Amino acid sequence: MRRVLILLGVFLVPVAVFGALVLADRSFGLVGRGFDYVVSVELPDPDAQAKLPKVEGPVDATRPLVVIDPGHGGKDPGAGTAGTLEKDLTLALALALKDELLRGGGVRVALTRSDDSYIFLGERSAIARRLGADLFISIHADSTEVSTGAIGATVYTLSAKGSNEVAERMAARENAADSINGVAMQDYGENVGAVLVDLSQRRAQAGSEGFAALILREGRGRMPFKEAEPQSAAFAVLKAPEVPSVLFESGYINNPIDVARLTSPAGRLAFAQVIDQAIRVFFARSKGSVGGA
Ligand SMILES: [Zn+2]
Repeated sequence: MRRVLILLGVFLVPVAVFGALVLADRSFGLVGRGFDYVVSVELPDPDAQAKLPKVEGPVDATRPLVVIDPGHGGKDPGAGTAGTLEKDLTLALALALKDELLRGGGVRVALTRSDDSYIFLGERSAIARRLGADLFISIHADSTEVSTGAIGATVYTLSAKGSNEVAERMAARENAADSINGVAMQDYGENVGAVLVDLSQRRAQAGSEGFAALILREGRGRMPFKEAEPQSAAFAVLKAPEVPSVLFESGYINNPIDVARLTSPAGRLAFAQVIDQAIRVFFARSKGSVGGA
């Protein structure tokens, strides 16, 4: 029995001493010396940024850069539940516009997404800003109660308050793209408002409004528009303060006439040609005022 106790002591004393040392170190140990019990966990770098998309077109970096943003994607299908989904329609339109711009040459192009991936709204405008884009266009398709018979495209720019109730509801629907990840829509409302206070944004805002008007001008007689004037609302995706930005609602995803137009090669080409022309006029104008495009 005595032997057993001695043996136990031989084993237990070092354990007890070690335990006491650990306790003392935790209580009185200085950071960076003594025992180190810190468990390292790999955390995402808060400064790490999403990978930037590929810029296509001329290698010449002085050429103007258009960032095209196909709305929604991945787990966020956007409007439409059966048949055509907004995320697929917007990607097809974006690719058609990219092809048209590259065909015409002289303009660099990047897409925020070129596959079915999910991107936060803020990331989309951040991509435009980080690439130093000269123009940002976010492509969408609206949905409405079929009974209203709404048809045609609407061009939107950013404003703290919607130009009317329809525009405000539209912005709320589009901003909800992020709410599936638990981001409150009200936050965007405040942020967008704060952005508008920034005086540095005025120039980009004038550019946005000019570009929106050009889309309507170039599209007259070539595609149906629901509103003859640019509309505005607090769209979270348009909050890159330095980049002229427009949100283009291409039509109504639950209106069969709009869907047939937007999913046909001819309709997509008409869209691409109209926006391409508006973009070229926009850059031709800003070349004069900015002194090089
Ligand atoms: Zn949308």
